[in-house]
Amino acid sequence: MDKITQIFVEAQNDSDIIRGIEQLKEDYGIEDILICLNVHNNFFYYSTVSGQTTFSEAKEMFDFRRISVRESEYIYRIDSLLYDVKFNEDTVIKQNSNQVIITDRHDEMLLVIHYKNEIYEERRNRQILDFSPVIKTAVSKLYLTKRLSSEKDIEERIASINKKLYTLQQLASLLQSTLNLEKILEIITKSISDSLGFSVVLLSLYDEKTNVMIRAAQHGLNEKVFEKLKRQKVAFSTLKNLMQEQYRVSRSYYINHKDAVNVLNSNLTTFTYIIPDEKEEQYINWHPEDILIIPLYSKDNKILGIITVDKPEDKFVNIGESVEILESFAQTASLAIENAKLFNKMDTLIKNLERINDISAVLTSFVNLQELVNHLVTAIREKFNYYNVAVLLFSSSKELEVRAYSGFNEKYIDRIGEIIKMGEGIVGWVAENGISLHIKDTRTDPRYVGRLDIPYSEIAIPLKVSDKIIGVLNVEAEGTNALDDNDFRIISILSSHLATAIDNTFKYEEKERIAVTDAMTGMYNYRFFMNKLKEEIDRAKRLSIPISVIMIDVDFFKEINDTYGHIVGDSIIKELAELLQDITRKGDIVTRYGGDEFFIILPGAGKTFTHTLSERVIKQVKEHKFVQNIKLTISLGIVTYPDDAENIEALLKWVDDALYDAKRKGRDRIDG
Ligand code: GH3
Ligand code: MG
Repeated sequence: MDKITQIFVEAQNDSDIIRGIEQLKEDYGIEDILICLNVHNNFFYYSTVSGQTTFSEAKEMFDFRRISVRESEYIYRIDSLLYDVKFNEDTVIKQNSNQVIITDRHDEMLLVIHYKNEIYEERRNRQILDFSPVIKTAVSKLYLTKRLSSEKDIEERIASINKKLYTLQQLASLLQSTLNLEKILEIITKSISDSLGFSVVLLSLYDEKTNVMIRAAQHGLNEKVFEKLKRQKVAFSTLKNLMQEQYRVSRSYYINHKDAVNVLNSNLTTFTYIIPDEKEEQYINWHPEDILIIPLYSKDNKILGIITVDKPEDKFVNIGESVEILESFAQTASLAIENAKLFNKMDTLIKNLERINDISAVLTSFVNLQELVNHLVTAIREKFNYYNVAVLLFSSSKELEVRAYSGFNEKYIDRIGEIIKMGEGIVGWVAENGISLHIKDTRTDPRYVGRLDIPYSEIAIPLKVSDKIIGVLNVEAEGTNALDDNDFRIISILSSHLATAIDNTFKYEEKERIAVTDAMTGMYNYRFFMNKLKEEIDRAKRLSIPISVIMIDVDFFKEINDTYGHIVGDSIIKELAELLQDITRKGDIVTRYGGDEFFIILPGAGKTFTHTLSERVIKQVKEHKFVQNIKLTISLGIVTYPDDAENIEALLKWVDDALYDAKRKGRDRIDG
């Protein structure tokens, strides 16, 4: 066994190790040596750099800055950074002029050698490398001895750790029993306080949207104080300033109150070194302004939040140990928070789908357009709690009309019937281009022409029926960024349902129209006449006004058919229909009963007026030259409510009898 190996194998204390180091220096022309042992992120080191008092200073001497890594990366394995000469499986060496860095594959020991000369000697490196296992063994042995002897009552300590771990286990099972985020955070803060003896525990969550930390749960604070804290959101950059490498203990950060003031008031850039600062296991005398931050990281290493603690029951705090336990809590907590967030997301998604379903399900039952859009705007606003919801439809080809509106200001601003020109504002733009818009802040969008000064988020989706734009569904929420991608999806889905429902009402109205229209003349048919007559008689009764009906039948129409043919006969019926329409007033209802018979309903008309009108009809028809100069006459039966009949049956019988009498008395006349 050579001398150096022997010294290290037999080393019992610091001076033995130093003796071995001195021997190494002498035998291999070494200027300085740094030995660093990493035991679960506790750093234990020897350095021969003169004048140094801390590891940081030793690090400076060894030019570690060269191998600094990007701020956000957290490096566990030193060797992952060394671009390197590999001597054997276990060891990596980096050769850098007169400096060599040796690390074992577990990153448990780092050896930095600074040679006196700059001659590269591979043999020399190999020999030093051969010593590294014995050096590691010696240093580890010493570290353990020191650590054990520094424990005043090791039994007690194990018991305390066990208690903490037990709490942690309990916490884990407690957390699994709920997916309610608020509850989870409450359990976490309470457990930490119980097991670690910090009277105050605060948990803040990171809000990605606004880039701030929001206090979400606490233990040990007065509710009022916490409410106040909740409102004070902390910018993420402030937290970043605190989470500096020099304050790092494992994955957490401890900032002494003296530093805390400076850090919070300045904008320091941070350096990250491969080797974290040594954090000697030490009991610190906790100061109320000390800061201990335990970050909560997601599985993909994004920050979820932080835990901070204060007011330890025992003011002497073992930072290393507290951090160790707190980090175990943090890991469990992070998992639970992530699960809860995922669950909340799913839950919201499902709830939204249910809401969409609820709204959509009834849409198809509407046959009346106005009722449909009225219902929709209210339903959307109530279910999703938006600020304003409006449906705009094209009233003519170039203008949009607000057809339905539900909103915060509906009592104050009556927007129904408001006209918006094509291309005007966000809604006009969407209608013109047929493209959906999601505006996160209306103030910054040049298209916005809103009247109110409050910042809005807005989503406007074109309503399309087989590629034809029929209008726009518009939703607004108060505040910037108040609507997210989910809202956009919701409104998009609803708008397509709405478009279909609107189209259905169009189709229904069209079907209704066809059902009451006479195909040949385009006039209302008998079915319409009967409905309308009932309605009008009811109205006349209600308002105590008269109503009259004229029944018309062409004289000897069969002969016209026989003489000129049916096609000419058809044309004459159509022509007569138009003529009757022309002669009557706007409110009068001309319908074709069938064949060569017509009815005219005259709401509000009494006997005298009806008679006069009938005479005019007879006269004008008689004078009219139909197709091929055909002339014809008509016979009329007339009846007036309430003078001649008091109900619809009596009225119809009366007018039919009157027409029959007119025919019987020689045609081309009025009877009634
Ligand atoms: P009058 O009413 O004066 O007693 O004699 P008329 O010849 O007009 O007899 P009536 O009113 O009883 O019969 C109507 C005739 O009109 C029967 C049919 O030949 C003809 N007609 C009915 N519907 C149509 C139609 O849609 N097109 C054509 N071209 N003729 C029709
Ligand atoms: Mg006839």
